[in-house]
Amino acid sequence: MLPKLKPAWIGLLVVGVMTGSVIAGNLGHAAGAKDNVPLGRKAAAIVDGQYPASYFPNTELLGPDEMRITALGTGMPNQTRAAVSISFLLELGNGDKFLFDLGSGMLANLFSLRPDFSKLDKVFASHLHVDHVGDFMAMHIGSWLSGRYTPLHIYGPSGSTPELGTKAFVENMQKAYAWDIATRSGALPDKGGEIEVHEFDYKQVNEVVYQKNGVTIRSWPAIHALDGSVSFSVEWNGLKYVFGGDTYPNKWYIKYAANADLASHEAFLPPKALAKYFGWDLAQATWVSTRIHTEPQAFGKVMSAVKPRLALGYHTVQSPENNAAITDGIRKTYDGPLALARDLMVINVTKKNIVVRMATVDEYVLPPDVSEAYQKAPRSDNKNPSKFILEGKWKGYTPPPMPKKQ
Ligand SMILES: [Zn+2]
Ligand SMILES: [Zn+2]
Repeated sequence: MLPKLKPAWIGLLVVGVMTGSVIAGNLGHAAGAKDNVPLGRKAAAIVDGQYPASYFPNTELLGPDEMRITALGTGMPNQTRAAVSISFLLELGNGDKFLFDLGSGMLANLFSLRPDFSKLDKVFASHLHVDHVGDFMAMHIGSWLSGRYTPLHIYGPSGSTPELGTKAFVENMQKAYAWDIATRSGALPDKGGEIEVHEFDYKQVNEVVYQKNGVTIRSWPAIHALDGSVSFSVEWNGLKYVFGGDTYPNKWYIKYAANADLASHEAFLPPKALAKYFGWDLAQATWVSTRIHTEPQAFGKVMSAVKPRLALGYHTVQSPENNAAITDGIRKTYDGPLALARDLMVINVTKKNIVVRMATVDEYVLPPDVSEAYQKAPRSDNKNPSKFILEGKWKGYTPPPMPKKQ
């Protein structure tokens, strides 16, 4: 039996669900070793389930039967420094990596991990609210500049009409920042500029939307504002991670999130706290919190039905007061293992252990190193401003001579 736990939130750096057992088969030969680790960092295997109290990026090899989930954004559209908009990174012991949602502000948290961007080419969008896809263009360009030399793949739902679907979103976004893409095309690896959209029917129920390398990702509908919000489950190597899209409590989540090792689901501010935060009247706050989203007591009911090894609540305005209100609400209806996600919370999951920690990152962290494959990836010719613009160069400055090409 797992112990009942207080949620991990402000002031608690390490709160875990640990059985205290040794992680079997977690020594050496982890597939994560293939990652391009920044100079000066050496990744080592975790021995006997003894995780450091804090997660230092690029210092730990994932075991062959282990997954790691890192919260890159857990907040609201109106972000704070403590909580930017929604995004989660899933890393598997076979070397695969997936991003779930790209909410505004997530990119700085992702860069603070100094990841191998050549592996970060698969994004799953739960729905097209800006607090879930607002950093799409930042991610496309930022990762292209920092090691990604293959196309970026976006998996996301259709909408009730074609113009409300993921394909239209991506195509229209690309038109909106066409100038940016044009300036970098040719200077950066050609393939890295490409985006491949994999739009699937939002109505499909627990159907496979991705299957490769032993990883199966399924989608089912969520109930949120308009048609076109979904949840995902990831099954790999006997482990199951569920990423819940914004929703009113729905029957599909109860059914298909069952048996999850880690089940995440929104745990929105309760009506009174929401009204206070936005300055809304209680009726409006009650509508949003209990009809468009899932308030804490409803989250607790959902998790009491799903019974995951760890329930993870997210999507709130982080503050000690709010987190206490959320916890109080959840504990009225759920007494199982629980964590409230914070930005840069890290969760390691194996069959035997679930460990919840915070990452330690530097404010001034450098971009990750890029691989030789990235440096050698084909690039078309660089583009330049027109003759008219170039003739405007001020004669009072002479740039240093260009070094020889290496
Ligand atoms: Zn939403
Ligand atoms: Zn949202």
